Amino acid sequence: MSDLQIASVTKHFGEASVLKGVTLDVKDGEFVSLVGPSGCGKSTLLRIIAGLETPTSGNIAIGGMDVTQLRAADRNLSMVFQSYALYPHLTVAENIAVPLQMRQMTALQRLPVLGGILPGARTQKADIGQAVRHAAEILEIAALLDRKPGQLSGGQRQRVALGRALVRDPAAFLLDEPLSNLDAKLRVQTRAEIAELHRRLKATFIYVTHDQVEAMTMSDRIAVMMGGEILQCAAPDVIYEDPDNIRVAEFIGSPK
Ligand code: ADP
Ligand code: MG
Repeated sequence: MSDLQIASVTKHFGEASVLKGVTLDVKDGEFVSLVGPSGCGKSTLLRIIAGLETPTSGNIAIGGMDVTQLRAADRNLSMVFQSYALYPHLTVAENIAVPLQMRQMTALQRLPVLGGILPGARTQKADIGQAVRHAAEILEIAALLDRKPGQLSGGQRQRVALGRALVRDPAAFLLDEPLSNLDAKLRVQTRAEIAELHRRLKATFIYVTHDQVEAMTMSDRIAVMMGGEILQCAAPDVIYEDPDNIRVAEFIGSPK
């Protein structure tokens, strides 16, 4: 079970109150988009869920377990950024393998005495290779495994980033405007691929975007954020046809 619960989360940066008590329950396997204008706190909220930022108050729970105090690496979530964040000197295969290798290293650090002589290191390497190939096949980048990020298009790079997110079999995928560096045509295509990935994996997705159309076409539910608060969270047709207030209506572009 990997339900994700965000309970009364606030965040202050100095005097600025960026999140003003955000509460949101995301069901296992659900695709929820966080939409709202630039600066409303979407990325901050996603980073708090990921463990890259600490909330000023409030809690995050995954599968019923409070993870607010856990480091990002121990939350088993995969984050995908707008900027891809790939290592330029590593091949596609090596980039995708990074989370698995980090996990392996962490396991070895926890067993320092066995670290040097742990049996099965070769099997683990084979397992990593297999997991990388599997992720690459799902994202249709198997032919690119030996290339470096510099030899790829933007769309291909974002697939590698998705592959790296996929390979660790996370409790949830957290995506922060993953398509905004792509041109319009590629954006539509990659949008469909992410939706297909969600259908196929039946995994939990939290998808940040400032693009209402993206959110309308991909999501089970849309959370509309403004000024550090969620104004409404509902299915796309409900948000569109029955917005709670004028600010939601204006942002989504509902008929007046
Ligand atoms: P969004 O992703 O919706 O565009 P952000 O979460 O990035 O919004 O930012 C929300 C607000 O918090 C903005 O006003 C931004 O300037 C501020 N902010 C974000 N991160 C920091 C930080 N590390 N220090 C100070 N202010 C920040
Ligand atoms: Mg942002």
